[in-house]
Amino acid sequence: MDGIKGKIYDIQGFSVQDGPGIRTTVFLKGCPLRCPWCHSPESQGFKTELNWMRIRCLGVEACGKCLTACRKGLIAKGPPSKSAAGEDIAYPEVDKTRCDECGACASVCKPEALYMCGDDMTADEVMRRLLRDKPFFDESGGGVTISGGECLCQPLFTLELLKRCKSEGMHTAVDTTGFAPWPAVESVLPYADLFLYDLKCMDSELHRRVIGVPNELILENALKIAAAGGRFQIRIPVIPLFNDSEEHFELYAGFLDKIRDAVDIVQLLPYHKLGVSKHERLLKNEKIFVAEPPSDELMDLRRGQLAARGFEVIIH
Ligand code: SF4
Ligand code: SF4
Repeated sequence: MDGIKGKIYDIQGFSVQDGPGIRTTVFLKGCPLRCPWCHSPESQGFKTELNWMRIRCLGVEACGKCLTACRKGLIAKGPPSKSAAGEDIAYPEVDKTRCDECGACASVCKPEALYMCGDDMTADEVMRRLLRDKPFFDESGGGVTISGGECLCQPLFTLELLKRCKSEGMHTAVDTTGFAPWPAVESVLPYADLFLYDLKCMDSELHRRVIGVPNELILENALKIAAAGGRFQIRIPVIPLFNDSEEHFELYAGFLDKIRDAVDIVQLLPYHKLGVSKHERLLKNEKIFVAEPPSDELMDLRRGQLAARGFEVIIH
């Protein structure tokens, strides 16, 4: 399995939000869900793709190298728009509908404003990176989290990384939407110390309409993981007008009761607007979901609602 490769869009060290202790999180690319509030929309596509970051771009007047780099002529000078410093700058506009993600424009962009998102890495390469951080894991009770995207969409690679991490004595967590075929979930069970498991919405029809897939598979997999002895950190993104009502949290409480013995902790993640600015990076010009973040009072109410049922609940 030395040659097995995964498509990765980031590896982040010193994470303290992806499970216990200090962790290094491996983000695999590709996800079958389309959460409108996704805070890493660059993770959704399964292929390596061209991204752009406004904050790094010098503008076409000062630079403009990308305009001539595209052999298909897909990059043009756009109208002036505000830079982070408030200046009016003409940025490049990319016709993403005809782009074949060849990367020629990214290769001439010195500040890496245009960049290719998604690296094909071998398990060996990833493990070399993870082993560098092992002293921090040992010191803090941390470990490795395999995340995404949906890491179980690359089940063999995820399994290989988990096996190798366990053989190195590392704590392992799988951060998953739960929307994966049971055989993929079952294969990683013996090597996953913890599942960071998203429950985004308890109403399957609403789940399908907003996120693109129903929730039955997710709930079934959670029940099976619990029955097989897996451990959970349940993650609930609290999204205004979607799942933040008292009634909806009663549905959460009812389901969590079924897997109570397997739940170490419930984490409520208040919606925030970070994903909004990141959507621009995809150059897709899509409509973006924007809402006011839930208030601290509402978050406390929802935490109290689940805590009153005997669950340990954290917010962040
Ligand atoms: S080459 Fe890069 S920095 Fe220069 S204009 Fe194009 S995107 Fe901006
Ligand atoms: S990645 Fe797309 S826009 Fe850039 S050079 Fe290739 S085809 Fe053109």
